[in-house]
Amino acid sequence: MTDARVVPEVDRAAAARRAVERRRARAALKRDLTTRVIAPQTVLARATDDPDSVAGSMRVTDFLLALPAIGAGKRDRVLDDLRISPVKRLGGLGVRQRAALREWLDGRFPQAEPRGARSRLLVLAGPTAVGKGTVAAHIRENHPEIHLSVSATTRAPRPGEVDGVHYYFVDDAEFDRLIDEGELLEYAVVHNRSRYGTPRAPIDAALAEGKTVLLEIDLQGARQVREAEPSATLIFLLPPSWDELVHRLIGRGTEDAEERARRLRTAKVELAAQNEFDHLIVNEDVAAAADEVVELSSSSAR
Ligand code: 5GP
Repeated sequence: MTDARVVPEVDRAAAARRAVERRRARAALKRDLTTRVIAPQTVLARATDDPDSVAGSMRVTDFLLALPAIGAGKRDRVLDDLRISPVKRLGGLGVRQRAALREWLDGRFPQAEPRGARSRLLVLAGPTAVGKGTVAAHIRENHPEIHLSVSATTRAPRPGEVDGVHYYFVDDAEFDRLIDEGELLEYAVVHNRSRYGTPRAPIDAALAEGKTVLLEIDLQGARQVREAEPSATLIFLLPPSWDELVHRLIGRGTEDAEERARRLRTAKVELAAQNEFDHLIVNEDVAAAADEVVELSSSSAR
């Protein structure tokens, strides 16, 4: 059609679509803040860099309310203290307001400080379904210089899994023996089902040879390693967004509603543990995430 009056209609429809997309993107970003997939400081930095971005267009009231454990009362007090008008958008804050907000965020949501002294013992953990197994497999295939710990487990092998390569598949009696004889650096029951543990001897041997050792284990295991070896470097793998983690967790649709809800609750609790870690890596792309882990290992070997 060539009728000129049609064009504004089309424009209006496109503008309405864009507005809906932006609202959706802002809602997704709020979910990322609430679930700690993204640090509030990162969102503030994005808003500062680009006031027209999704972060920049977020109202400061919505931003604060999306943060873990901040309710409406607290939000209003903070805005008052920082002398920020509730109608402001994140991208529209003045320099002083931005600095004040940043200082408050740093006090309330401290970020991991890169550790000075580095260890050659790396632990990779993260929420269920974030893809740490895939990242570890990528490192096993592409970085033979890194010793990837092979865990013992009481679960049955899956098709294609090789004893001694992916796991040491053991029965309960053998797992008990490993615990009793102090042969495990850490161990835990994972997903309320099977037991998994890290054999200590191969790790000691690899470290003695000067190699970097990588453990891909669950959160409980990571905490035990921190206790046993306080100098270990703890890496937390994050999903690119909360929505993506939900997709990876329940996307296959093979679990019932109750199981899906249980997994999502677990993932939220697991994400809340990220502050205990030394480094956060976002698993947007497996090869890139693996490279970041390897980079930490080469700097740790220095
Ligand atoms: P899967 O059975 O799918 O191979 O692994 C299930 C979970 O067990 C993963 O989250 C993995 O990180 C964890 N896991 C694997 N090995 C160990 C281990 O030695 N110790 C602990 N604590 N967790 C492990």
